[in-house]
Amino acid sequence: MKAIIFLCLFACVSRALGGLEKYSGLIKADPPSAIAAPPRSGVRITYLGTNAYLFESRDTTLLVDPYFSRQKLFRFALRLRPVPQPQLLASWLHDHPKIDAVLVTHGHIDHLYDAPQIVRETCAKLIASSTSVKIAESLGVPARQTRSVRGGQTEAVASAVIHVLPAQHDRLFGSVPFNGPLKRLPPQKIDDWVTGDPLAFLIEIGGKRIFINSGGRPDDIISTNGRAVDLAILGVAARDSIRAVPHAVAQLRPRYILPSHQDDFFRPLRSGFVFLPLSDFPAVRRAVAGGSGELILLDYFRPWTLR
Ligand SMILES: [Zn+2]
Repeated sequence: MKAIIFLCLFACVSRALGGLEKYSGLIKADPPSAIAAPPRSGVRITYLGTNAYLFESRDTTLLVDPYFSRQKLFRFALRLRPVPQPQLLASWLHDHPKIDAVLVTHGHIDHLYDAPQIVRETCAKLIASSTSVKIAESLGVPARQTRSVRGGQTEAVASAVIHVLPAQHDRLFGSVPFNGPLKRLPPQKIDDWVTGDPLAFLIEIGGKRIFINSGGRPDDIISTNGRAVDLAILGVAARDSIRAVPHAVAQLRPRYILPSHQDDFFRPLRSGFVFLPLSDFPAVRRAVAGGSGELILLDYFRPWTLR
């Protein structure tokens, strides 16, 4: 029933919310001439839609929540089998053959679905919850390439240090979608990609400190050992997570705040950034107003180097 309400509500909200044109003054991007080689200093960040980011320093490459094979809304609502969409991922991987680790915040399909293929093809390490690791291993990822982690652990990957933090998934209509124990492995239908224990990451890479979650709740406690971060990437897909932003910003004290997971991830990635009808970017702007940190946006596939 919730799925049908969600589908109707979604369909009723105008799709005319548009893309990032209105907010072009907030977009950060490197000049086109700077995008060939990894940066000598700092960390280059490329937004890949939904909550997916590529982080490249001089000698380390990390990927978070890759999701190229987008599924249409009705497949989510009706909990159908996902349809693989291998072309875009294959062409992207052709240009990005070296990835040291793939980090996954939780097991939902829009965060985990493409990770197994990427890990298999690049020999990257998968860093994720035990639930996400079980799903990935059932899809052919060798155990030697997986690292099952919990909040409080720290992982070193090349020259990066990854602090794994406990997190909470935001609620949609009062509950976390596709929650509960694993139902079957390998997963077959969209709701077989279950949440597991949600994670956030504080990543030290290229001399910078970057926090990323996939969304949160207003009572989230974020432990950064009292140190501010350079960039806070905060999922804002739902009202719950937008309400969590002021508290997260107060704890993280970021130089830059990048709202995430606010694009329409039911549309093909190739069709460009369009706001998710249920997202509310004006509310995000109000949520960060008066706090510390500069609000920024990134567009799909346009790298920006954080220095
Ligand atoms: Zn989720």
